[in-house]
Amino acid sequence: MVKTAALYITGDCINCDACREECPAGAVYPAAGTGKTINLKAGTLPADHYYIAADKCTGCEDVQGGPQCIGICPMDCIEYID
Ligand code: SF4
Ligand code: SF4
Repeated sequence: MVKTAALYITGDCINCDACREECPAGAVYPAAGTGKTINLKAGTLPADHYYIAADKCTGCEDVQGGPQCIGICPMDCIEYID
């Protein structure tokens, strides 16, 4: 069964790499390049900034203190998918 991403990164991302380094699941990836899009439950986002892979993000459910990416992001641009 494919897990559903719990979070996504908004267009306010500045590609600082902090969340990728912090993610215990290896679920964060750099910008995929121009033209590519990422499909999420919340919609389709342009991949001109970092993104969270839907099939890898666990939502940090087993990590004390909650999502590591949200905690480290300087732009407060990682949000829960409704
Ligand atoms: S919620 Fe946790 S597993 Fe998901 S992208 Fe953020 S740090 Fe990685
Ligand atoms: S920590 Fe925030 S600003 Fe930095 S790459 Fe991740 S989502 Fe983008």
